[in-house]
Amino acid sequence: MLVRLVYVSYAKTVMDDEEIAAILEKSNKNNRRDSITGVLLYSNRYFFQCLEGERTKVNQTYLRIANDVRHNKCVQIQYSDIDTRLFSGWAMEHVAFNGLADQLMLKYSETGLFHPYEFSAGQSLSLLTEIAESRQKLMPVKKSLFTWFSK
Ligand code: FAD
Repeated sequence: MLVRLVYVSYAKTVMDDEEIAAILEKSNKNNRRDSITGVLLYSNRYFFQCLEGERTKVNQTYLRIANDVRHNKCVQIQYSDIDTRLFSGWAMEHVAFNGLADQLMLKYSETGLFHPYEFSAGQSLSLLTEIAESRQKLMPVKKSLFTWFSK
């Protein structure tokens, strides 16, 4: 059974490019092995991540992530059975916040800043859908996990 899990968390410290790259490298390796796809956004110490895949694999991955000392305050904001993936075929990728990202943030927040703890399940799904639909504008497409990264 396919599921989608979306959570938000808060980095223990401000993360630099190397620390994010290390997370992405490990995620890419493990997620390819487990046929998990998704997206990871990082901004202002907030993480917002969507994991899609087989239910047991997604649950195991989330348990590993939630126990990671590099962040805390993990809160699941969506967990649902799905018929299809939003992010099938997405690669690990760094994309800086840009005009489109700013527009999306303004659309989904009162302040225009990235405060994902305030997202409802519906808002998070809408945001993810827009990111998936906008991927051609946001980045060169690779495979399996896309990361939208800003400081
Ligand atoms: P190893 O890489 O061998 O790690 C062993 C232990 O060391 C684990 O407990 C690990 O958390 C810890 N560790 C490793 N590096 C560091 C470090 N630099 N600082 C502190 N502790 C460290 N993993 C995925 O598989 N898929 C994902 O999509 C994914 N997304 C993530 C998103 C975020 C925001 C974060 C913070 C981590 C994410 N991770 C992801 C990493 C995950 O938390 C685990 O570290 C990883 O899955 C463990 O892989 P492993 O079993 O091969 O153990």
